[in-house]
Amino acid sequence: MDFKVFILGSGAAIPTLQRGTTAHLISCFQRNILIDCGEGTQIQFRRFRLKFQKIDIICISHLHGDHVFGLAGLLSTMQLMGRTSALRIIGPEGLKELISAQLDLVGHGDFFPLDFHILPAGFSGVVYEDKCLAIHAFPLAHRITTFGYRLMEKPNKRRLDKAAFDATGVSVSYIAKLIQGDDITDNEGRVVRSADVTIPGKPAKSYAFCSDTAYTTAILPHIQDVDLLYHEATFTNAFADRAFKTGHSTAAQAASIALKANAKRLILGHFSARYDDEEQHLAEAKVIFENVFAAKDGAVFNI
Ligand SMILES: [Zn+2]
Repeated sequence: MDFKVFILGSGAAIPTLQRGTTAHLISCFQRNILIDCGEGTQIQFRRFRLKFQKIDIICISHLHGDHVFGLAGLLSTMQLMGRTSALRIIGPEGLKELISAQLDLVGHGDFFPLDFHILPAGFSGVVYEDKCLAIHAFPLAHRITTFGYRLMEKPNKRRLDKAAFDATGVSVSYIAKLIQGDDITDNEGRVVRSADVTIPGKPAKSYAFCSDTAYTTAILPHIQDVDLLYHEATFTNAFADRAFKTGHSTAAQAASIALKANAKRLILGHFSARYDDEEQHLAEAKVIFENVFAAKDGAVFNI
């Protein structure tokens, strides 16, 4: 199944020609979820030939400009290009006022429906759910209210072991129950246990987004065993003090979180514009967690 992350912006604070500010597009079982929308995100969609009209849900981590200044512009362009379908927007308190003020003051008139789902400070829990996907939000440790998000595939159904089932001789009408995990007794009194005639479905996969945040082990229960973890790494070890003061992380701290969470892979990002490349970040992270990659604008990660 299709579950991938497009990095639209990998830089911190200031957009540059090499790095846009934070935005990730997650394509997940025909759903398209945008996490954060820094300035210029709509241009990144065009640059990487992605379709912003197909976005179903937007999750905003926090209200710092490099995570949200692109949102009013993106919504405005969606409307100019004829969007009519509703858009769900999830994020912290103040988000609705910020966006509504901008759209109202510029006098757009009728707008397609914006369905805001505002999270109180400290919230953790499910913010969206359908038959394929659930999105969980959880608090990060930053200078203002900030949320991380975890996108989780719903558990896959058990699959029939056809040879084992055929050997039981019971009617095929029991297959659905057995796949659901129920044991059955047929009209002739034959008992068949689900575990004997089915095999587990493929493991459900997940992606976690953690930016912006200082190093905190409080997030570990929310990201445990994640398949792909994005954790900000604004700074290298030389600027650990600055990371602490500004509510950000170093690459080594991000790697430590990935290790403790038993993540399978780690993406570093939100690199400070003071760095010309991410080699030092990767070197410092790899000492702690081997399976680490650096975000680049336009990079795609399959989950
Ligand atoms: Zn921030």
